[in-house]
Amino acid sequence: KALNCEKGPTPEPCNQCFMCQAINNETLLDFIEIDGASNRGIEDVKALRESIQYEPMHSRYRVIIIDEVHQLSRDAFNALLKTLEEPPTRTVFIFATTEFHKVPKTIASRCQHFVFKRLTNPQIMNHLRYLADQEKIDISSYSLKLIADAADGSLRDAETLLDMVVSFSGSKVRDKETEEVLGIINRSLFEDFSRIILESQAGEVFPLVESLVSAGYDLRHFYSGLIEYFRNLLLVKVSANPAELLAFSEEEINRLKEVGKDQKKEDLLRYILMLQEGEAGLRYSAQPRIFLEAWLVKLCYLKNLKPVEEILEEISRLKDELKRNQNEQSVYPTTNSTSNLKSNVSFKQATKTAEYNHLGQNQNSVPKKEFSVFGQEAADVLYFRVMKEKPALAPILKTCKKVEVKESIIKFIFGQDKKHFAELISQHLVYLNRVALELSGKEFELQIEEGQVNQAVKENSNHHPEIRESARNDEAKKLLQDPKTKALLSSIKGQVIAVKKKPRPDQT
Ligand SMILES: [Zn+2]
Repeated sequence: KALNCEKGPTPEPCNQCFMCQAINNETLLDFIEIDGASNRGIEDVKALRESIQYEPMHSRYRVIIIDEVHQLSRDAFNALLKTLEEPPTRTVFIFATTEFHKVPKTIASRCQHFVFKRLTNPQIMNHLRYLADQEKIDISSYSLKLIADAADGSLRDAETLLDMVVSFSGSKVRDKETEEVLGIINRSLFEDFSRIILESQAGEVFPLVESLVSAGYDLRHFYSGLIEYFRNLLLVKVSANPAELLAFSEEEINRLKEVGKDQKKEDLLRYILMLQEGEAGLRYSAQPRIFLEAWLVKLCYLKNLKPVEEILEEISRLKDELKRNQNEQSVYPTTNSTSNLKSNVSFKQATKTAEYNHLGQNQNSVPKKEFSVFGQEAADVLYFRVMKEKPALAPILKTCKKVEVKESIIKFIFGQDKKHFAELISQHLVYLNRVALELSGKEFELQIEEGQVNQAVKENSNHHPEIRESARNDEAKKLLQDPKTKALLSSIKGQVIAVKKKPRPDQT
């Protein structure tokens, strides 16, 4: 119409003139609309070519629309391509498709490509509401929403679905009938599933999934519905005016509120995030039913997993308890400890270990007694452990001329030419000490012997950055002896990476 309107060409055809009306009434011979799905063969395209070899008869432009063009056969596309390469005069082709990727590149490259946006659900619902009012159909907003959801942005699909629903139920549409026609999973089923998840009744998962499967529901479809259901539970909880956002009746909103009334917002959010996490897994699983069951059981146990806030609370409670039990002054490093530089790093037996143990916080980390034999074998155990945990450090450890394990001393002996490696190892003494403690269950004194170089390093230590590093390790070690630190490290399975001092309020 835009091309052929007698008052045009114009973006806004008048709809009054002969041309506009002829197109509206589908009586204009120069306007041809073809359904690509039912006219997909080469014969159809040949017939089309035949009919357009002459100039358009009455109109400015002949317009040919091929809908669902991706449905054409390959031969048909090839025949069409010839026409596009030598287009007849005053002829415009319009190809419509929902699957652009199926259109051959040779065709697509000769076209201008316009992408139409999907309609939003409210837009579709508005239009359906308009149609329903015109036809005097009594249908709820909820039913219209179900149709809009199922149409997935396509107005034509939405109209077809509305038509189906109405032909099934007559002019008075009940929600249940809409659900039935669209094969939508009963809302009470979502309610059942959300209840067993929220009440951690893992045993109920299996019979309920069985009922889904035997009723013939699509599990993936069900799953995305369940995600939306949880989203709605959260929405009615956080939104001041949920009715505005959900096309639900007041009764339905109250029911959602009832289901989620004992739930915390944070928990509902965690459920939603975890449900979403499972979506891809379900989509690609070869056994979606088993995946669904396992994932739902996992969701049932989500409540037992503690949120981070609770863990932090527990840590601070633990700290307070330790403070009460502590009769000795803490061994936080003081400023003058930095001046106490040594390259032979050693540290005292843990004075607080016993006190820490009686709180029973380290039951999980009872060390294995792997250092049954001292000497070379112990050194090997240590080496293999390092190789597993810090593969970059292990070869450096290997540059040691010798590792001596005697009583409570581990001595790394480096040749004079390996001074640099000795320094590298000295930066990891905190780690090595922890490994030795874990493997043997006892505190070791770690020593590094660097032959003659040792002395020289000592003298220059004040200007040597690497040595300052080892001094920092010294501080870290002192910190590690502190029961508070130990408790913290054990509860979060952490390790000390660096020690930074906070200025004390009394020091300016
Ligand atoms: Zn007109």
